Amino acid sequence: MYIVMVTPEITPAAKVGGLADVIVGLSRELVSMGHNVDVICPMYSCMRYDQIEDLHEVYSELWVPHYNEWRSEKVFQGKVSGINTYFITGGNYTEREKIYGYDDDMFRFVYFNRAVMEFMYKTEKRPEIIHCHDWQTALIPAMYYDIYGGLGWNDSRVIFTIHNTECQGLCWYGQKLLDMVQMDVGRYHQPDKMQDDSKANCINLMRGAIVYSNFVTTVSPTYAGEIKNADSGRGLQHVLNSHSAKLGGVINGIDYDVWDPATDKKICHNYSTENFVDKYKNKYGLREWLQLDDVWKPIVSVVTRLTQQKGLDLIKHAIYSTLRMGGQFVLLGESPDPAVNADFWRIKNELADCRDVHLWIGYHEDLAHLIYAGSDMFLVPSIFEPCGLTQLIALRYGTVPVVRETGGLADTVLDVDNSGLGLAGSNGYSFKDANPAGLDYALGRAIDCWTSYPETFNKLAQNGMKFDYSWKNPGIDYENIYNYVKAK
Ligand code: ADP
Repeated sequence: MYIVMVTPEITPAAKVGGLADVIVGLSRELVSMGHNVDVICPMYSCMRYDQIEDLHEVYSELWVPHYNEWRSEKVFQGKVSGINTYFITGGNYTEREKIYGYDDDMFRFVYFNRAVMEFMYKTEKRPEIIHCHDWQTALIPAMYYDIYGGLGWNDSRVIFTIHNTECQGLCWYGQKLLDMVQMDVGRYHQPDKMQDDSKANCINLMRGAIVYSNFVTTVSPTYAGEIKNADSGRGLQHVLNSHSAKLGGVINGIDYDVWDPATDKKICHNYSTENFVDKYKNKYGLREWLQLDDVWKPIVSVVTRLTQQKGLDLIKHAIYSTLRMGGQFVLLGESPDPAVNADFWRIKNELADCRDVHLWIGYHEDLAHLIYAGSDMFLVPSIFEPCGLTQLIALRYGTVPVVRETGGLADTVLDVDNSGLGLAGSNGYSFKDANPAGLDYALGRAIDCWTSYPETFNKLAQNGMKFDYSWKNPGIDYENIYNYVKAK
C-alpha cells in the first residue's frame, strides 16, 4: 500500500513532542510490513539539518494559492530516521526560530496543507492513504474532497489522528484564513462542517477533519471513549458522537531499538528478564549520580513535562508521601511556565538536606534512561493522558508503573490487585481519583509490596518487561484501518 503521512513534526529533525516519535515509529513499522511510506513535513529553517540524510531539491517551482495570487515554493527530499521525507518550503511561514508559538500559527499550517495537496496533485502522487496528524494538518481532508476531488483525484482515502484535543485549530478569523488558501468560508462555516459547537462565530479545523475524514483515530481506546464526553472532548464531543462509527483508538508503541535495557548504552548495566538482578546495578548508578543515600529503600521516579495535564499537585504530594512511606523520590522534569519551575525549585531547596530525594529541573535524555533503569517504581498521576509513553518505557525497563486510570494509562497498566487478572496477568498499580488519597492508595500498595513481598514485586516488574508495547501491534491495527477504508 502507498501511504503518505502528513505531519508538523518528525523525530529527530523537527521534534517538539511525542507526535514526532509516533510518525517515525509507525512509519518504520509500516515499511517493515512491506508498505511504501512517504512523510511530508514543513521545511522549517530551525530544523536539525544534521539529522536529515541526503537532503536535495526535487521540485523547484511549486505554485501554491495564497489569497489572490500564487506563491512559489520548493520541495526537498531526504531521509529522517530512515524514512523518506519531503519538506516543503513556506517562505516567511517556515523561516522561524521555533516550530510553534506564533500568533499566525493557523495561517502557517493551513498554507502548508494547501502546499501538500498541490505537491501531491502536481507530481501525480496518488497515495492509497493520506494519514493526517493533529490540527496542523486538519484542513487536508476537506481540501481533498472539495477541491481535488473535482480535479479527478478520487481514489485516495483520508485518515485523521487526534493526538490531543487540547489544541483544535479554533479561530474567529475563518474568513481570512480560508481566503488565504482560496476556500470559501461560507461553505465551511456551517454547523455540520467546521463551525465550532460552542463558539458559533469560530471555525474549528479539527472538527472539519472529523467530518471529512474516512476514519478518525486517536492514540488509545480509552481516550477514544473519553473524548466523546465533555471533559476530554473539549467541545468536540458532539461531533465525535455523531461520527462515532468511524472513530477508533490505537495505542501508540515505543521504539524498541531505542528503549531496550539489554542494549541501552546510556545505562550503567544492561539487563533483561534473564539477568534481572543486574537492574539493581543501575539503582546504585542512579544513586551515585544524584547523591542519594545507598540504603534499603525503593526509588519512586517521575520523568515528565511539568504541566497541569501531568498532575502537578499530585506529583508534589507524591514527593512527601514517598518519603513518609519510607522510599526515595527522583523527579526529572521541566515546565514551559517559569512559575512552575520556580515552585519545584522551592521544594528542591526546602529538601536540600534530604538524601532521599532529588529533583532535577530540566531536560536530560541520558538521565532519563538511567532513571527508567534504576528506579523500582514509576509514577504517572496524569489528570488526562491520551496515550502516554513513559509508562510504556518503565514497563520495558522492569520498573513498576503507578498510574492514574485515564486514557492510555488505563489501557496499558493493569493493576495487580484490582484488574482481576492476578499476579501473572498484571503489571502495575493504578488509582481512579485524581486526589492525594487516590494516589496514596496506589503508591502505598506498591511500596508495601516492595517492602513486605519482594518476590511478588520482582515478578510484577518482570511481567511488565514481557508485555509487547512495540509498534508491532499498532502497525497491524493501522493496516487494518487502512484496508477497511479502502474497501468502503
Ligand atoms: P508528552 O505528553 O510529554 O508527549 P509522553 O509520555 O507521551 O508525554 O512522552 C514523554 C517523552 O518525553 C518520554 O519519552 C519521556 O522520557 C520524555 N521526557 C519528558 N520529560 C523529560 C525530561 N525532563 N528529560 C528527558 N526526557 C523527558
